[in-house]
Amino acid sequence: MLPSWQDKERYGSMIRAALWLEAEVGEGAVFTKARLREAFPDVAQIDRRLRDLRDYGWQIDTSREDPSLKQEEQRYVKMGAPVWLPGQAKAKPKAALTAAQRTRVLVADSFLCRSCGIAAGDPYGEDGIARAQLDVARREVLLPNGTVEVQLVTECNRCRVGGRGRKADVNEMISKLKALSPLEQDIFAGWVKADRRKRNQLEQLWGSYRTLPAESRDLIKQAMGNSDANQK
Ligand SMILES: [Zn+2]
Repeated sequence: MLPSWQDKERYGSMIRAALWLEAEVGEGAVFTKARLREAFPDVAQIDRRLRDLRDYGWQIDTSREDPSLKQEEQRYVKMGAPVWLPGQAKAKPKAALTAAQRTRVLVADSFLCRSCGIAAGDPYGEDGIARAQLDVARREVLLPNGTVEVQLVTECNRCRVGGRGRKADVNEMISKLKALSPLEQDIFAGWVKADRRKRNQLEQLWGSYRTLPAESRDLIKQAMGNSDANQK
């Protein structure tokens, strides 16, 4: 049972905003800025207090991260640290990235989403309406020495929200499949039957390599003996 988000005596506005998300909105649901302000008429900068929760691992998407949202809407995606518990809100929050850090990561990643390879501003589909925005995400990487490190990596808005808003066109796909050569169609039919495409190990490794943050790609380059880092 969560404490009440209306308890102004015990909790500050960031914690109350967290409790409000859990009690009134619920994970996955969309809320408007107007609804938030209505719930906290006495807090001048409730938008900012809500954003502060991101430093504690709370995922709250705006139209910037999730193009399917309207300007005034936000989505409560995922709960983070239970900040209302003693000590949790005081845990050192992840420091926000500086502009210089962001730029360094974007340059290292050649301004491409490391998950899907799209470039900033490129259209996602043939309709050309939704365009990719790149941002810097944190990814946990298991290092060769066994420790886990959080590294920074470039990711596009669609990969970040897990492909929401992607529209599939079955007819278009069928006509493209029909246009393939009989041999290609046979191969594809085999994958469909098995419900998977067996990738060989080289392809699997390449796929994994491409999604690594720049620091980890450097480690692989070093191990392969052609590192940029060695020349510095
Ligand atoms: Zn992407």
